[in-house]
Amino acid sequence: EALSPADRALIDRRAKALGPAYRLFYDQPLHITRSEGVWLWDKDGRRYLDAYNNVASVGHCHPRVVEAITQQLGVLNTHTRYLHENVVTYAERLLATMPDALGHVMFTCTGSEANDIALRIARSYTRREGVIVTRLAYHGLTEAVAELSPSLGEFTPRSPRIRLIDAPDTLRIPEAQQGAKLAADLAQAIAEMRADGIEPAVFIVDTIFSSDGLHPDPAGFLQPAVDLIRAEGGLFIADEVQPGFARTGDAFWGFQRHGLVPDMVTMGKPMGNGFPLSGTAMRPELVQEFGEKARYFNTFGGNPVAAAAGMAVLDVIADEGLQDNATAVGGFLKSGLQDIATRYPEIGHVRGAGLFLAVECVTARETNAPDAARAKFVVNHLRQNGVLISATGPGANVLKIRPPLVLQQAEATLFLDAAEAAFAAARAEGV
Ligand code: PMP
Repeated sequence: EALSPADRALIDRRAKALGPAYRLFYDQPLHITRSEGVWLWDKDGRRYLDAYNNVASVGHCHPRVVEAITQQLGVLNTHTRYLHENVVTYAERLLATMPDALGHVMFTCTGSEANDIALRIARSYTRREGVIVTRLAYHGLTEAVAELSPSLGEFTPRSPRIRLIDAPDTLRIPEAQQGAKLAADLAQAIAEMRADGIEPAVFIVDTIFSSDGLHPDPAGFLQPAVDLIRAEGGLFIADEVQPGFARTGDAFWGFQRHGLVPDMVTMGKPMGNGFPLSGTAMRPELVQEFGEKARYFNTFGGNPVAAAAGMAVLDVIADEGLQDNATAVGGFLKSGLQDIATRYPEIGHVRGAGLFLAVECVTARETNAPDAARAKFVVNHLRQNGVLISATGPGANVLKIRPPLVLQQAEATLFLDAAEAAFAAARAEGV
């Protein structure tokens, strides 16, 4: 399939208007125009199964979310310095999904902002500057959190305040060593930081390590590292932008899979099902002084429309049993992928929790060397056959499968058939 002249022209206009920093997915970029549930349609009416989107997490254009947003937008939408019932009720309901220790939540518009305000509060509370992140983490785009996002590459500068440690690796490190290794690496990073006169303020991780290649197992392995950062006087921030809001099936929040209570929790993406809404929850004492001396104002963050969107998302997750659906359909999908792996040794590992799954492509199971070319081929083959995923991880060889939580078994079966066909085609074409 070649790119149409119209799409070619749009790509050129896009580059001219938006500049060079933007990227498009796929060798043949997708031009989508509408959506519903787990489905997207391109401008020619062709249908795609969205197995990648954790923003439209309760399904694209979910009628209850659309209705809640539209209704509130037609009544009142203003900045956040007036009294309004929605935002308070929403905050209470959100906090009720979390451990009691997390007593306040502050609203923002993007995951980046949620991490940025978390970092400011953590640094002001601890009177320290140092932050430890994993080697391929992504925590956002502002000047402060881009520093915490080594996955942005070498061009993004990082001050000595930031130290990197290896992420867990579910395939290459034995499960029993995962927790101890992470804690040992953290200890070393703290020692090196201190040798340079910098005290550790924060250890922050995405609790499912999405951009590091998705490392969910064994649940609980985060505990020793979290104990350590606290023993050293720092705080633990759980970045729940990816695993939060029931995605893992096991728990509503990724940190709960690890049996943890973080000092702060940041969240975003699926929170408003596409309406910009994010937030930072925290232990109340952390923000006491900051609140008194620094104040907080966010023009759009947690306005009445955002709160209506967030509330509708919580309602849909509960009323449609989406956490259980993530467990059931995610489990079905995972065992189907494991079955494919019995026929394709090119698949080195299948892992995941709920509806967040990874398939790691390797050149050989003996070496587990990453096979980025195969992953890229599979991603593009799936796209040509109407199924959307992407690839991630340090070797760009980990297929990232993250459909809306409303995925049903019939659609999962369709996914599995397309995935097997893609691996077969890769083999036939000698990739
Ligand atoms: N944290 C994580 C783990 C993320 O995946 C992302 C977005 N990819 C962010 C933070 C930043 O969120 P946003 O793009 O909404 O600023």
